[in-house]
Amino acid sequence: MIKVKGYAAISANDALAPFSFERRDPGPHDVQFDILFCGVCHSDVHQVRDEWGGSIFPMVPGHEIVGRVTATGKDVKRFSTGDLAAIGCMIDSCGTCDNCSKGLEQYCLDRVIWTYNAYEKDGKTPTYGGYSNRIVADEDFVLNISGKQDLKGIAPLLCAGITTYSPLRHWKVGKGHRIGILGLGGLGHMAVKFASSFGAEVTMLSSSPSKEADAKRLGAHNFVLTTDEERVKSMSNYFDFIFDAVSAQHDYNKYLKLLRTNGVHICVGVPPVPEPVYATNLIGGRRSLVGSLIGGIAETQEMLDYCASHNIVSDVEVIDIRYINQAYDRMIKGDVRYRFVIDMSTLQ
Ligand code: NAP
Ligand code: ZN
Repeated sequence: MIKVKGYAAISANDALAPFSFERRDPGPHDVQFDILFCGVCHSDVHQVRDEWGGSIFPMVPGHEIVGRVTATGKDVKRFSTGDLAAIGCMIDSCGTCDNCSKGLEQYCLDRVIWTYNAYEKDGKTPTYGGYSNRIVADEDFVLNISGKQDLKGIAPLLCAGITTYSPLRHWKVGKGHRIGILGLGGLGHMAVKFASSFGAEVTMLSSSPSKEADAKRLGAHNFVLTTDEERVKSMSNYFDFIFDAVSAQHDYNKYLKLLRTNGVHICVGVPPVPEPVYATNLIGGRRSLVGSLIGGIAETQEMLDYCASHNIVSDVEVIDIRYINQAYDRMIKGDVRYRFVIDMSTLQ
């Protein structure tokens, strides 16, 4: 077994604190790597605080992981010691169901094995995530990354990047479309970058007036303050798409009304509480309310390659791991520009 150091929450009421544990030695098809950086996703906060229910403790969060390979199993083909490598939100799936065979491992009909807050295939070994110094995973769930880009800015692509890229591609968002991005955080800022890169007219819908200049620098053409009810109403029947990346409770009806006929409201944010939606807001204008979960492994690699060739990375604030609990508090207040990334060399 490999000795690993990390940060864990022991229960939903505890702050994250140093935690030692073990991972398996790499098997024939496994890659082992030292973690250099790990992004901090709002899903980490939701799960550490058990806001979605069913959290498994102790929990070592983290699913935006980049590092350097230190060992490979004898059957590993795509990685050698010294290569850069990355892991996102999942580390395994059944591999044979209808969805897995279509490259949609995130919708595996049997069971996705999440990078943390899950159990391995044996059903009893907990998975521990990237707030740690070493990781081992099956080669099929390890991604290749470019050595030419800033590693700190690549880490958030493994969740915030793919979660925004995948639905924008699925719904073919591009030239001639108007999209409203709701919530300028980790996911929101990647959605702005991708949607503008794909040629859409991008409007930032934000509750934070202080983010206007950044939204425009990131690629938004317009900025609408969501607390300005008159201004929001003036955008009725305007958008082809709303991309909803808000982590907290909010009124979907307010934004559905901004969609044109056949418009699509894409939910990726996961507020912990249900929210009523009035059918009339869907029926009038034949609008759709849809959702999307991360993206498959092949599409994640496609997104990483797209970012490398279009010079796209995440805008990050690099933190010492000892700052993680303050980072969570700031994230909850919407005070993140636009992704915290842990420098794992700060883990003692
Ligand atoms: P984040 O960085 O904290 O950003 C969330 C943004 O939502 C904030 O910056 C803020 O933007 C807005 N917001 C926060 N509280 C709000 C409130 N009370 N009212 C209105 N707006 C509020 O979070 P993230 O990491 O981007 O994650 C966003 C959500 O997506 C989370 O729920 C996360 O769990 C989920 N997620 C889903 C997937 C998936 O596969 N579907 C993957 C990853 C994450 P403004 O200041 O601009 O208003
Ligand atoms: Zn995430």
